[in-house]
Amino acid sequence: TAQQPNSLTAQPPNRPPMTLRLLLGDQLHIRHSWFRERRPDVVYVLMEVRSETDYVRHHLQKVIGFFLAMRHFAAELEAEGHRVHYIRLDDPANRQGIEANLEWLLREYGATHFEYLLPDEWRLDEALRAFCAGLQGVTSAVLDTEHFLSDRAAVRRQFAGKKTYLMEAFYRKMREKYQILMEPDGKTPLFGRWNFDAENRKKLPKQVSIPPATPFHRDVPELADMIHKAGVQTIGRLDVHRFDWPVTRAENLQLLHDFLRFRLRFFGDYQDAMTGRDWLLFHSRLSFALNLKLLHPMEVIQAAVDYWESHQDLVPYAALEGFVRQIIGWREYMRGIYWAEMPGYRSLNYFGHQAPLPEWYWTGETDMACLRQAITQSLDRAYAHHIQRLMLTGNFALLLGVHPDEVDAWYLGIYMDAVEWVEITNTRGMSQFADGGIVGTKPYVSSANYIHKMSDHCAGCRYDRNLRHGPDACPFNSLYWDFHHRHRALLERNPRIGMVYKVWDGMAEEERRRILEAAGEVRRRMEEDGGG
Ligand code: FAD
Ligand code: SF4
Repeated sequence: TAQQPNSLTAQPPNRPPMTLRLLLGDQLHIRHSWFRERRPDVVYVLMEVRSETDYVRHHLQKVIGFFLAMRHFAAELEAEGHRVHYIRLDDPANRQGIEANLEWLLREYGATHFEYLLPDEWRLDEALRAFCAGLQGVTSAVLDTEHFLSDRAAVRRQFAGKKTYLMEAFYRKMREKYQILMEPDGKTPLFGRWNFDAENRKKLPKQVSIPPATPFHRDVPELADMIHKAGVQTIGRLDVHRFDWPVTRAENLQLLHDFLRFRLRFFGDYQDAMTGRDWLLFHSRLSFALNLKLLHPMEVIQAAVDYWESHQDLVPYAALEGFVRQIIGWREYMRGIYWAEMPGYRSLNYFGHQAPLPEWYWTGETDMACLRQAITQSLDRAYAHHIQRLMLTGNFALLLGVHPDEVDAWYLGIYMDAVEWVEITNTRGMSQFADGGIVGTKPYVSSANYIHKMSDHCAGCRYDRNLRHGPDACPFNSLYWDFHHRHRALLERNPRIGMVYKVWDGMAEEERRRILEAAGEVRRRMEEDGGG
């Protein structure tokens, strides 16, 4: 790990002008143009601070993962001949806040210039802008992270004057812009279609075996101990002798390589499948590395395209297209929405939901087999794949009417890849529809029907997926109808939902009454004893 310079306070009187460059924990982009030259007058600053560990209760693995990735990155920079000042969480000189540490270091190094990279979080963007505005005798500059494939304003620009932002339109534009999966004319998508989703998304058959996840086990007792002693409040579980996340660029390149070899071929087919057999299925687990900028989205996409080109017998085009869409489509689009809609976005609550998040979201102790699996693995691994987040934990919180602030805090804390720009747009937007339709055209809600169709959870569940009321009825069922009933005024005119109301209105009045009663009972249980 990086060493701190010993002679901080002993600067020579005629020292040359110094520049301090800040690197945030999610700015570990070794190919940034900053690092092309080694400059003795530049010091890179990385810091572990309480202001970042404490703004939400994070999973212990997430805190450790960020710190480890930062420490390795700092060491790599030093090995390449750059000057680095790394502040550990337990450094007695640590002021535990970004601005306070910067003030101290600018003074210590006698720096006359300060630079930072565009933060991806609105909160830090504001803070650093204000910090620079207040600097006296120190000039400052902000540079791009050179990570994303679209700029912050791309979505706002593309949809200026339109009522909604359309992911598909954004995605097509990105494909054209970067000439990814395009025919030689540069305008037609490869094989004449932009989107092969219709061929993806199957239930996982029993006979399909799932490749084991690449292990990255590490001993981290000292780090866990340091975090614990500092009093940082964390969530989740960790075996300190088996911390299992790749934290260096080399390790993540290995993860990418293994994903292409063993998983990409089924990525599309089982993208939406859920199973009690495994936690990762055919997903890539690359979001942590992407969000910390250890890997560049273009190198991930290029590697996937190259792999497909030489393995077309193994990898269906639909799988490749689906994977590319997640990265140059959804990922970049969510970031564009974040910058188009913040800061107002973080307080949107379209349905006016107020319920608390059930206690068992923090323990996994529920009889609902699907949610037990999704939450337990999240607590054990700081990971759940997209459809678990959207159609299990997100779906249930929305049906129950949980306040979006509580839902956001849970997602922002529990997942390894959770950084606000991509967490809040997915949670408050896509999953909770708290934005009233900025991200999605309708709420992602379902009854047990969908969960049964896409998973093997229901067979082993204490609840009966076919029942809508009664003590054994699956809670998703009554809550699903109750949700539509409660929000009829907001949803009925949505052309994608109209059918639901036709079915509801077609039910006998007594049946509807019993369903609503059952939903009230589920809600009472959750609020009174947290029981699930
Ligand atoms: P894969 O399934 O292998 O997908 C490949 C890559 O595509 C991902 O690594 C990711 O970079 C990108 N991607 C896929 N879907 C999305 C999406 N909807 N938005 C943005 N990028 C996407 N993703 C985060 O990175 N951070 C979050 O905090 C986060 N919170 C979420 C909260 C909710 C409620 C939901 C429904 C989704 C959230 N996502 C978040 C999106 C998605 O679930 C994760 O990116 C994905 O599960 C990460 O696992 P993976 O790397 O194995 O993804
Ligand atoms: Fe989940 Fe309901 Fe199926 Fe149980 S019956 S696994 S709670 S959907």
